[in-house]
Amino acid sequence: MRKFGIILLLILFPVFSLMAQGYIDVVVIDAGHGGKDPGAVGSKYKEKDITLSIALKLGNYIEENLNDVKVIYTRKSDKFIPLHKRSEIANKNNADLFISIHCNATSSSRPYGSETFVMGPHKNDDNLEVAKQENASVLLEDNYESQYEGFDPNSPEAHIIFSLYQNTYLNQSLKIADRVQTQFRERVSRRDRGVKQAGFLVLWRAAMPSILVEAGFLSNPREQEFLGSEKGQVYIASAIFRAFRNYKMEMEGDSNQQKDTVKKTKEDIVAKEKKEDKEKEIAEEDAINDDKDDLFFAVQFATSTEKKSVSSFDNIDNVKRYYQNGMYKYFTGHERSLNTAVSLQHKIQKLGYDDAFVIAFYNGERISVSKASKRLAEE
Ligand SMILES: [Zn+2]
Repeated sequence: MRKFGIILLLILFPVFSLMAQGYIDVVVIDAGHGGKDPGAVGSKYKEKDITLSIALKLGNYIEENLNDVKVIYTRKSDKFIPLHKRSEIANKNNADLFISIHCNATSSSRPYGSETFVMGPHKNDDNLEVAKQENASVLLEDNYESQYEGFDPNSPEAHIIFSLYQNTYLNQSLKIADRVQTQFRERVSRRDRGVKQAGFLVLWRAAMPSILVEAGFLSNPREQEFLGSEKGQVYIASAIFRAFRNYKMEMEGDSNQQKDTVKKTKEDIVAKEKKEDKEKEIAEEDAINDDKDDLFFAVQFATSTEKKSVSSFDNIDNVKRYYQNGMYKYFTGHERSLNTAVSLQHKIQKLGYDDAFVIAFYNGERISVSKASKRLAEE
């Protein structure tokens, strides 16, 4: 009988968790580090200040645009909060999502770009290294041994064992992580370093989907400037906001959308579209200039003397625009190899843009395709 009960529980558990995931209306935003823990320290900026600034911006966007969502911050000022306390705040408030914001740093000044982590076993040493660095914050806590079941942040084995703890919310965490990276890549031209897994103490006890965003590298001088700038912080926060909004809509599902449609007047929809267009305009304005170190191929398919919105090409996704020699030029794609760029070109040609051709960007500027291929071969 007891066995049967356990089996029944095992069967019902996913059903309960499915029911519980219906509404996404409480989000905890965690600005990494703070107070005596500066996090990564660049030549100009400290991680704790950048994460706080991005966290507050993100919270603002959510409060302004999604009024059914309650935003809770783990800190709103320069304060030290132990890692276990941060997930505790989320658990106590029955949060539906936990977003921890951080910046990377390495001994080399080369690496750049954004990556998003979920709790899980790391697949390579770089990922382990990120977790080790972030987990080192516990060394500043009193009695950390008792708080983390004897976890020793200096022992590599401890990190491995700890990362094997089952992540009940892995699928949803991967989903929101993927939305964040998509926004970084497609809307604000960040280098997409991917969705990764590693064992983070700050996510360990979170009883809800949770992610840790590494917005960029303070060890890379250009990226440090970007992360420290108002514009850079707006880009990062708005990308995470849009990812959150998409995730929320998806999780709340169709039934809710139908309800919404009935409720919404035509004016609401028009106003929303206008707002989204405006948002898009802001994000796309300097899209190709942002990631200065980035080298990529793309497919140009149209030009115009008048500035057109990138959303006016409705059969092509992720259109970007740049201005050159008195003309507005439109392209799509962010390809790291010439081969994939050429197959994208064929795809675009099939959509009726017979003249579509492959172009390349480096340092935010058009360069010849042959130059780009050469540079790539040298890397
Ligand atoms: Zn950090």
